[in-house]
Amino acid sequence: MSAERHYLGAARRETPRSLRPNAGTPSHAWARYLDVIRHGLLMIDDAGRVIVSNAPAERLLTNFLPPSRKLGARPLLRALCAGTGKPRREVFRSLRQGRDRRTAVSFEVRDQGLTLQVELNPAEEQGWIATIEDVSARKASEARADEAARQDPLTGLPNRLLLQERLSEALVRLHRNGEKCALLLVDLDRFKPVNDTLGHPIGDALLKKVADRLRSAVRPTDTVARIGGDEFIIVQAGIREASDTQALARRLVDLIGRTYMIDGHLLTIGASVGVALAPNDGDASETLLKNADLALYRAKVDGRGTYRFFEPEMDARMQARRRLELDMRQALARREFQLHYQPQMQLDGDRLIGCEALIRWKHPERGAVSPLDFIPLAEEIGLIVPIGDWVIRQACRDAMHWPAHMAVAVNVSPAQFKSDRLVETIMSALAGSGLPARRLEVEITEGVLLQENEKTLRTLHRLRELGVRVSMDDFGTGYSSLSYLRSFPFDKIKIDRSFVKDLSSKPDGDAIIRAIAGLGKSLGMTTVAEGVETPEQMQRIREEGCTDVQGYLISRPIPADDLMTFLASYPPHA
Ligand code: C2E
Ligand code: MG
Ligand code: MG
Repeated sequence: MSAERHYLGAARRETPRSLRPNAGTPSHAWARYLDVIRHGLLMIDDAGRVIVSNAPAERLLTNFLPPSRKLGARPLLRALCAGTGKPRREVFRSLRQGRDRRTAVSFEVRDQGLTLQVELNPAEEQGWIATIEDVSARKASEARADEAARQDPLTGLPNRLLLQERLSEALVRLHRNGEKCALLLVDLDRFKPVNDTLGHPIGDALLKKVADRLRSAVRPTDTVARIGGDEFIIVQAGIREASDTQALARRLVDLIGRTYMIDGHLLTIGASVGVALAPNDGDASETLLKNADLALYRAKVDGRGTYRFFEPEMDARMQARRRLELDMRQALARREFQLHYQPQMQLDGDRLIGCEALIRWKHPERGAVSPLDFIPLAEEIGLIVPIGDWVIRQACRDAMHWPAHMAVAVNVSPAQFKSDRLVETIMSALAGSGLPARRLEVEITEGVLLQENEKTLRTLHRLRELGVRVSMDDFGTGYSSLSYLRSFPFDKIKIDRSFVKDLSSKPDGDAIIRAIAGLGKSLGMTTVAEGVETPEQMQRIREEGCTDVQGYLISRPIPADDLMTFLASYPPHA
């Protein structure tokens, strides 16, 4: 009350000369002209009495007064104050400041669905001139636009912007009263193939159903947001312990993994979920998002369709990965890669008929890095394409120094098949080196045939038309090696070395090799046993009917220069 009085000052005894004090409508004839102004207009004296008001002002302001009250008394100011939603003390303080500085004071007043913009300008001698604008429509459309800007149009879920706000709010609650929360990053597995093969309308319908299931899995206090094509985030609020979140993560994986019926198609996708808990795994948005992302990455690496909670060593592992990536990116330019060659021997006549090119990386600090440690990462980040190009060109060049009957085999990764450039690269490597196509072999694993089968098969056929031979590597280790043998007429089957190892260690260890050798024979394909290390294994391989062998018994993979020496002295006991 004191603030009010202070602003209003002691009511002056003398009245303004130009206007007659009147707590109601203006009595001056000219004042009626004010009615044609679209905005509300008021003149208020320092005592808070309304001296002049136009019709729009009366119309707008009556909404703010209890029915019994008349416009013009202090209740008007009180009602306006209440409508600002701010403490009355604060409103009067700003009025006082406006008065002192002779600047306009403006505030928004809201009540019963109306929003008014009230601006008070200190009048010349005393009191205020107030303009009142009805901004309800504008505010409503702003609010709608605001909501739209925070919503994903397809699913109606909050988008990244609103998610950020909700997460910030949750973190404020965490800091203020220790209310824990969790961030769950959900990534759909196998969504892309649905979208690519059945079309976007089906993909969209599927996303909507996923959104519904996610919504149904959380409480009203949680937030589910869509932040990308098939990526969702859940902010789980007010959790007591990690098991609350674990239960939710498990529920999400289960719910998303159930089949969907869309437009007559029975669809199955999965969800990988990465979880970060606040405050344990961070108490800032960026840290939590980063850590949930690391956990999601782990969930995917661990086979998808599962959830993982963030653990600090994930961060360390990711940093090591990043360092490896950086080093690998430089390795090509720094000529740190080298090719070693491992000879293959034909059992009929014990002749060397070719070599497999195997990449070696000698890093100045890391030393020799095994292909098993860097090829998977190179595939994942696409770096295998330039590295693989180099391998093909180098192998063709090296093979030109070998006896004319010897072939060179290169390993080609799934990512290289995806890149569209493979056939051109091979053609230009052959042309550049002068190596006849029949002396080049391409080794592929099941992974190549698992992806975009049609396109891959077309590429394989084009290679075959060029005269390049195609081998199925690591045969027997995948899920459906047999069905792949039917899909393409391979020239060669390379029996994985795990079966050769089984020869001596398992009672029926020879059954598989015998079966594959028989299969190769009837399909007209060469069968190479990989990883032959001992004379006994060699003997057994011969007996089972394989046509070729490769392994340490003949030679380990050796540098190109040493290979020349090796070839010159072969066969060793001749
Ligand atoms: P892979 O194509 O199946 O190659 C055969 C692997 O078995 C080679 O390992 C070879 O050194 C090893 N090996 C050969 N004989 C024996 C033996 O008697 N005993 C034992 N224990 N091992 C034997 P390496 O060189 O470490 O290569 C591993 C894998 O890395 C290769 O398996 C291949 O999948 C991949 N790789 C190697 N070079 C390249 C390349 O240039 N491009 C691509 N995309 N992958 C490559
Ligand atoms: Mg191979
Ligand atoms: Mg192999």
